[in-house]
This record gives sequence, structure tokens and C-alpha cells, in this order.
Amino acid sequence: MTLTETILARASGRARVEPGDNIWVNTDVLLTHDVCGPGTIGVFHREFGRDAKVWDREKIVIIPDHYIFTADSLSNRNVDILRDFVREQHLPYFYDVIDDPEGHWQFDAARGQLKRQYGRSFAGVCHTALPEKGHVRPGEVLFGTDSHTCMAGAFGEFATGIGNTDAGFILGTGKLLIKVPETMRFYLDGALQKGVMAKDVILHVIGEIGFDGATYRAMQWQGPGASALGMDDRMTITNMAIEAGGKNGIFAADQTTFDFVDARCAANGTKADYQPAELSRDQRFVYDQAFDLSALEPTVAMHPNPGNRALAKTLGHITLDRAYIGSCTGGKTSDFLAFAEIVRGKRVAVDTFGVPATPGVVDDLHKAQWNGRSVWQWLEEAGVQMTENASCAACLGGPVDTFGRMNKPLTCISATNRNFPGRMGHKDSKVYLASPYTVAASALAGRISDPREFL
Ligand code: SF4
Repeated sequence: MTLTETILARASGRARVEPGDNIWVNTDVLLTHDVCGPGTIGVFHREFGRDAKVWDREKIVIIPDHYIFTADSLSNRNVDILRDFVREQHLPYFYDVIDDPEGHWQFDAARGQLKRQYGRSFAGVCHTALPEKGHVRPGEVLFGTDSHTCMAGAFGEFATGIGNTDAGFILGTGKLLIKVPETMRFYLDGALQKGVMAKDVILHVIGEIGFDGATYRAMQWQGPGASALGMDDRMTITNMAIEAGGKNGIFAADQTTFDFVDARCAANGTKADYQPAELSRDQRFVYDQAFDLSALEPTVAMHPNPGNRALAKTLGHITLDRAYIGSCTGGKTSDFLAFAEIVRGKRVAVDTFGVPATPGVVDDLHKAQWNGRSVWQWLEEAGVQMTENASCAACLGGPVDTFGRMNKPLTCISATNRNFPGRMGHKDSKVYLASPYTVAASALAGRISDPREFL
């Protein structure tokens, strides 16, 4: 069995499963956020009763992250609905924006967008926060009410996005009926060249198979090139499985994974035991392709979909209005360090927005020092508008006052993961997806640029 089949067999109490089998799966963690949480809670109350209790308090993680730093009162109210539910059910894993469990969240627009407006437990973007807070473990099953839940497959677990109705059902039962996906294997060999990042790997692969090329399939990453990648890089790759239509993305857990997971579970006092899925010899794939990482070059997904691939070096004619670095995919500490490596000591030529994925990333960038200045300072001095309000921000547009949102037709290069029309605001905007290196180089030049010219 493949990694996905092995995990699903175990989670359904069977010795074996085959692609196409419909099975009831036990959930290890259910994740929800401020956009889908209120709907999920509504389904739960409607179907299980107003006084019903969730199936397992320890297995539910609620992370408000999407429409947070906005004066839109309905968005603020969504966070209050989550807090009410957490209080009603006594849930331990709620990463609230405010510290007062009886309070109400209200964004104060008068204080501006740049300085932090959150309390001690706020965690930032759910997919990046989940591992930081010790909620991912090899061999487990994670369901989340968000399509990029697949990011946690980087840790060797089965992780996939689901809708509110399914999530409401899980809240009551802990189970979900799913069809076992076929598995595609992507075998990575060689090493990335200077200037090429994990983002280029996934953009290259999606360009190869198309933005629907993995529809309802598991994307399994293997080979020496995969094993050599760090956790941040694996997360970038599995995050975008859904951009090829994938059910999930998955790496085999190894020592790199165990070190990361063990440290985060210990630091946060979360469940520390897990059973990784082993790579077996009898794996059957519906697609099996090798990729030489050393042959890859800085890659861009052009407007209007993540499979519309081109090399950065061929797109110099595309002038830009804006550059954006942030999101679960592109807002990690390592992403900002790569971005800063290029813009440090220079000045961006277009409006450039930086949104760290989590408060932990904000802290890292304030603490990291280069020549007596923090990386945060280097970024600001280069003209990057940096906000401490870690969240999804303009990755998915959001209310009109969202930081970095494109409220008119603009052309933007972005380290985020999705570029369908209207994704970052105005429906006539154009978004080009690229690595943090390529976004930084392009921000300096004011046109899409190959970062190797700047390194
Ligand atoms: S940062 Fe973007 S892709 Fe990630 S969860 Fe938020 S909206 Fe979705």
C-alpha cells in the first residue's frame, strides 16, 4: 500500500484498502477557522441538537485567521461565534485573537494595520500554526475546513480539506466516509540550484500535470531529493497539492519530521505519541514520474491559474504594480529570510506588502540580526510594508480594508498559492505566483525577474 492507503487502512480498522474503496475513517484532528467554523457549528447544532457535546474535546483545533484584521463587523462577529462555542464545549485548543474568554473581538482601524492587535494565544494562519502549536503527527488523519489543509501531509499524515457539513458530522461522531484516492508518485532526485526554491518545484510539477492533473488523487513525494528538503520546503510543496486538484499531498516521515514534531509537541504539551506510516514495497501508483531538481529554474504560474507555467527569465516584459509575500505557503520565516536576502540594502520599485504567517514568524524576523539590524528592519528599509498582524490578509482578498488587498485592477507577483481571477481582490487583477526569491527580485525590478540576477 502507498503511504495514504496505509494510513487510511489503519484509521478505518482494516488490514488493507484499495483505491476506490469507500471507508469510514476515524479522525485524529479536526481543524476549523473563522470563515467555516460558524457554519460547521451551525450544522453540528442543527443535526445533533442544541445541547449536544462534541465527540472528543482534545481533537478539535480552532484557529481564527482569515478575516481578522478588518473593521467588517460580521467578520469580527465570526470570531465571537467561535469563542462562544469553545466556552460551551470547554475546548482546550482555541487560538483566540483576544485574551479575554468573555470578550468580543473588534479590530481598531484607528491604530492602523501595521502594529500587532492580538493577544497572547493568537496563532496566525491555521496551516502554519498547526505544526508550530504541536497538532501535526506522522500517521494521523487530519480533516480541516480549508482546502489547504493538505499542507500537513508534509509531516507524513493524511490531511485533506472538507466542507462544513462533513465537519459538522465529524464534530458529532469523529468519523467521516471517504473514498480512498489513487496515488501519484513524484520521485525527486538531485539538488536545487542556487536561486531555486521548493515553490519552484511545485509550480513546475503543477505545470507538468495541469491544475486538475491530480484531481482526487494523493500526491506522494519520494526520493533522495525529497528526503533532503527541510520541513518548510515540504510544507510549501504539500500545501499546493490542492492547486492540482489533489486530495492530499504526503511525504514519508523521517528523522527531520520526528525532530520537528517531537520538539513542537513537547513545547506545547500536546499529544506526543504517534505511529508513522512506513514506505512499503508493494506500492501501486496511477502515475510515477521522476524529476531532477538540479534541472529546475525559477518558475512562475501566470494568471489565471496555478498550472499556467513559465520560466521567470522569459517574463521580463510583464511589468508589475505590486508584490506580495505572505500566506501559509509563502509567509514562513524561511520565506521571509530568502526574500530579505535579495532586497536587503536595496529599494523595491513597486508597492510591496509583507504578511508573516504567524506571530512566531513576526518574532523570528524581529530577533534575527544581520549586521546589527533585524531582518524586519532590513525589510522595512527596503520599502516593504510589513505588518505584525499575521493572518491570511490579501491571500484571498477579504473585506475591502484588508491589508494588501487589490481593490482595483492591478498586476501582482505573489508568494501565495492560488491565482484564479479575483483571488486577491479585484476580479480584473492579474496574479503571478512565484517563490519568495522571484517575488523579491521582481519587486526590485518592477517587472518579473529571474532572482539569479540578484544573488
Ligand atoms: S493564507 Fe491563503 S491559502 Fe493559506 S489558509 Fe489563508 S487564505 Fe487559505
